[in-house]
Amino acid sequence: MAQGGEWTGYGGVGDYRNSNGNTAAVMNEAHRIRDHVFDDPSAEAVDTGETFDCVVVGGGISGLAAALFFHRQAGPGLKCLVLENHPVFGGEAKRNEFMVDGHRLFAQQGSTHFQIPFPHSYLERFYESIGMDYRQFKYQSWGGSEREIPLSRSPYQMLSIEPATYGFYFGAKFRQQPGLWLVDPWGRKLEGAPLPSEMRRELVKWHEAESKNTWPPKLPFAYPGDEVSRRYDSQTLEQVMMQEDGLSQETIRTFFAQETAGGFGLGPDALSGYCSSSGTPSTRSTIHPPQAGRCSPAATRAWRA
Ligand SMILES: Cc1cc2nc3c(=O)[nH]c(=O)nc-3n(C[C@H](O)[C@H](O)[C@H](O)COP(=O)(O)OP(=O)(O)OC[C@H]3O[C@@H](n4cnc5c(N)ncnc54)[C@H](O)[C@@H]3O)c2cc1C
Repeated sequence: MAQGGEWTGYGGVGDYRNSNGNTAAVMNEAHRIRDHVFDDPSAEAVDTGETFDCVVVGGGISGLAAALFFHRQAGPGLKCLVLENHPVFGGEAKRNEFMVDGHRLFAQQGSTHFQIPFPHSYLERFYESIGMDYRQFKYQSWGGSEREIPLSRSPYQMLSIEPATYGFYFGAKFRQQPGLWLVDPWGRKLEGAPLPSEMRRELVKWHEAESKNTWPPKLPFAYPGDEVSRRYDSQTLEQVMMQEDGLSQETIRTFFAQETAGGFGLGPDALSGYCSSSGTPSTRSTIHPPQAGRCSPAATRAWRA
């Protein structure tokens, strides 16, 4: 990694310098908590004489929301302090800026998208209460002089990307050295991909079925908690994908495990089958629905929830 060391990776620049997330320093501090280094109050602590009715440690979205609710519900005159130890508040839900190979990139710290609320839901009322009209958000249109490269609306669309300008990269994991770019992989039906023919066949079949998905997708059960949803919950996500998507265990573990692990920290072999319809890492509720057939099964199913 060019910046921040191998463990930390690229870090923020400009105002976002020192505002990265899980750096090696954070991990080391966590180990010190585990090792009871902070069990006693610091001898360097200074009494400022200030008093607060509520103190929130951490100015991420949870801490900010907690402070907001305190402000609204605790009554007038009560004071709340939010302590944030990074230069920019917002935690994982803020943006960040990076220098990569001489290019300044504006990207998310962690979260890529927020959920569109169901009508009349708690979330919709909350958005309204903070004056945020999510319908006003617009995707930026292409302004460059070069030919536009169509982009997906979420990094979670990585496996099902469609435009012919896109490619799949097969590196060392697929015994390709140097790596191999397969441009327009679905258009070519994965011809030329360094995969066993059975795996290619499975993936192409899966992709074709995905492309026929109608919008909006339907829930496979009447309501969360009913008998059918409980049956999903009695299986692993991997089992559900094998049964419903016709994918083999090897294909799921090769191509889909990272997607679920990225969102949940667990692979489909450990996640509940209920996740297949209730929010696997996904494009669920991005500002606009993904176009039918342009999202992964996880994403498509998650939209059903
Ligand atoms: C890579 C990634 C992708 C994600 N994608 C999505 C997505 O697309 N959509 C979605 O809805 N959610 C997504 N999430 C989840 C979402 O970002 C988090 O659930 C949410 O931001 C967590 O908010 P939080 O306030 O609980 O914690 P954090 O955002 O971690 O905030 C904690 C805050 O506490 C501060 N802090 C920590 N220790 C101290 C201390 N000792 N003193 C003072 N301050 C301290 C930190 O600096 C930070 O600002 C993603 C998360 C990650 C990591």
